[in-house]
Amino acid sequence: MSKSIREDGRNYNELRPIKIKAGVLERADGSAYIEVGGNKILAAVYGPRESYIRRLIEPNTGIVRCKYNMAPFSVDTRKRPGPDRRSTEISKITAEALRPALMLENYPRSMVDVYIEVIEAEGGTRCAGITCASVALVDAGIPMRDMVVGCAAGKVNDEIVLDLSEIEDKQGQADLPIAIMPRTGDITLLQCDGNLSEEEFNIALDLAMDGCLEINKLQKEALMDEYSNDD
Ligand code: UDP
Repeated sequence: MSKSIREDGRNYNELRPIKIKAGVLERADGSAYIEVGGNKILAAVYGPRESYIRRLIEPNTGIVRCKYNMAPFSVDTRKRPGPDRRSTEISKITAEALRPALMLENYPRSMVDVYIEVIEAEGGTRCAGITCASVALVDAGIPMRDMVVGCAAGKVNDEIVLDLSEIEDKQGQADLPIAIMPRTGDITLLQCDGNLSEEEFNIALDLAMDGCLEINKLQKEALMDEYSNDD
């Protein structure tokens, strides 16, 4: 497999530039902001608080709900405001990706709400949203087994590459977004759009895992920055 330079000048195993900041909102219980390449995403967390929706109450555990939303101005062609099939799917898989890390069994009958607002999108928003939400959950002080971090790999021009940009996502042959709990390597999200051979799948998975571990260091740095500045 040739390892040529990509359209934006990155190497096959190179992430886009990433910035993460914890505790960016005053009103939410926890919050974070992330930039991954051209993606700009805010996450806010409320809870755990007593569930006000009776049908969602679980007597032995708390629950987590997620709402992923793309601003109308976040993409080139104005996006119609409000939920659609894509945002409903991403909300669901994000809640499922975060759930295993949360020790909600200590909070029966409660719920945690996670809001992910995509302000600008440039490919890979579901992974960046999960990474950002995980920092916001820590910022909210919710007990967690581990953090959760998301990253994608995929196939572009017959090569397996890390962290697809929007162009690579649209023109590429496959996209494999994952989320893991970095301490154990447990996978909490795995989707695959496009076709990969078994060998390509394994290479992409390893690459995405390495990307996750690199991003996890930035998550921890963002939290250290936030809390070392506290009085
Ligand atoms: N996108 C867009 N308009 C939309 C939805 C998505 O321009 O209504 C772009 C956006 O940049 C997004 C990318 O297409 O990041 C890839 O979208 P996908 O559904 O693969 O999810 P993502 O990669 O963001 O998790």
